[in-house]
Amino acid sequence: MAEEKKSLNFIEQIIEEDLQTTYKKEDLKFRFPPEPNGYLHIGHASSICLNFGLGEKYNAPVNLRFDDTNPIKEEQEFVDAIKEDVLWLGFKWEKECYASDYFQQLYDWAVEMIKNGDAYVDSQTSEEIALQKGTPTEPGKESPYRNRSVEENIELFSKMKNGETPERGHVLRAKIDMTSPNMLMRDPVMYRCLHKSHHRTNDTWKIYPMYDWAHGESDFIESISHSFCTLEFLPHRELYNWFVEKVSKEGELKPKQREFARRNLSHTVVSKRKLMQLVEKGVVNSWDDPRMPTISGLRRRGYTPNAIRKFADSIGVGKRENMIDVAHLEFCAREDLNKTAPRVMGVLDPVKLVITNYEEGKEEWLEAENNPEDESAGSREIPFSRELYIEKEDFKESANRKFFRLTLGKEVRLKNAYIIKGEEVVKDSEGNITEIHCTYDPKSKSGSGTEESMRKVKGTLHWVSAKHALETEIRLYDRLFSVENPDGDKEKDYMEFVNPDSLEVITGFVEPSLKSAGVQDKFQFQRIGYFCVDKESEEGKPIFNRTVTLRDSWAKIK
Ligand code: ATP
Ligand code: MG
Repeated sequence: MAEEKKSLNFIEQIIEEDLQTTYKKEDLKFRFPPEPNGYLHIGHASSICLNFGLGEKYNAPVNLRFDDTNPIKEEQEFVDAIKEDVLWLGFKWEKECYASDYFQQLYDWAVEMIKNGDAYVDSQTSEEIALQKGTPTEPGKESPYRNRSVEENIELFSKMKNGETPERGHVLRAKIDMTSPNMLMRDPVMYRCLHKSHHRTNDTWKIYPMYDWAHGESDFIESISHSFCTLEFLPHRELYNWFVEKVSKEGELKPKQREFARRNLSHTVVSKRKLMQLVEKGVVNSWDDPRMPTISGLRRRGYTPNAIRKFADSIGVGKRENMIDVAHLEFCAREDLNKTAPRVMGVLDPVKLVITNYEEGKEEWLEAENNPEDESAGSREIPFSRELYIEKEDFKESANRKFFRLTLGKEVRLKNAYIIKGEEVVKDSEGNITEIHCTYDPKSKSGSGTEESMRKVKGTLHWVSAKHALETEIRLYDRLFSVENPDGDKEKDYMEFVNPDSLEVITGFVEPSLKSAGVQDKFQFQRIGYFCVDKESEEGKPIFNRTVTLRDSWAKIK
């Protein structure tokens, strides 16, 4: 029992304690509440995995709630993308909810509050209101409109609602305490006038509720037991409780706001607003550009739901903000893809290799295992012939003893094929190598069982048969920002740290079996990395995105 306690995170501990005191198991209910003002990013994945993970653990419902109270920034496109991402991660919500579905209820409650002397219409400008706020050490000043009569307040509020007052004319404020040490309690704004069409309620409303007024009330309407949000909302908790107190009756279960730390990822930014800038300024091509830390970008890049969930679970929930190294996310991708991605051969930077003692015109189909980590993955046949491509960097005319690849006079194995020996190089007039000539040992075929096939040579190279190979576009991605924390410099804007070399497009040669690869199919290009077929591919002409290299090359650079 003690052991089980130890492994609970602090959020689970809160729930366990509440189950001893306030809540019954069947009272537990959670929600994930995105604002549809952009695409979800890897930070949201943490919140999704937290809330839906608790739902799975406690067998409790989890709502997907769109916090759509600001029509200036919100769009249906974002609603659709958010739903797709949550589903793709493998989670199912109990109900699809919208704060905008509660606009009428919120309005009715606000009228009640006016009648009870808990809210008033302020006709000052936002600048004037700001000037009266005070400071953390100085109390604020009361608005000259604070003591309007209920009748006048009701009449004005109704005019605001109908769009009969100018946009910046009035706001509705809660009447709390201008001397409160918590500045958020100094008569916070509940409604502002906004004559803007909403993606769901269209032109019905000319006033829109503020976050603090809408969020807890939405939680209350949906009977959410625990409302988890990020740490910056800690000072809002008092206001959250104050509002819920006003709309609930005695004995009713009230939702609890609790806070956890935001997760940041190195070499990128996790803020919808900043990601939108990257899209709008053309730094990336779209929200789902494979360089983006969005869930849709990671998906297109070749990440699996499993890898992302593993990542979120392994970093867990915390009480303090910190920066997670993107290398950890890449590690999670490698770990998952290693188990599931079929192995293939592809040459990214080709040089021609001619086997001079291999009969011209002859071809062989050699058996190659699809995944040594998964026997059930079976095998396939790959063509072998006299002319192949190998990787330029796998050959050196002369090299020291530590170079275990191809050199003149030394032997290496061609993966799934034969042992070859470098014989000579052919160069153009500028001295560039155009062909490498070698000889092969016909008895050394992999898996043939002969003594020669068992012979140990130091290096094994990947290759493709030149005449069979599929020429294909390959997109190599690197980090989107060249520094660990693009937001960390007070003097400079994060945009200044964009890595100009985050995308390199090359033409490579891959084995012909890949002609039939479909969008989103994932492969390990042996000795290189993991790749995924991009959605811009045409039938028979796959474009590959590099998901991640086989090894962490950045660790070496550091
Ligand atoms: P952004 O600044 O990117 O718009 P947000 O917090 O405003 O983020 P919301 O759509 O309001 O975005 O977030 C939905 C939920 O996801 C909230 O509960 C929020 O606290 C959580 N969340 C957002 N970003 C992170 C993050 N980096 N780490 C953990 N949780 C996050
Ligand atoms: Mg937000």
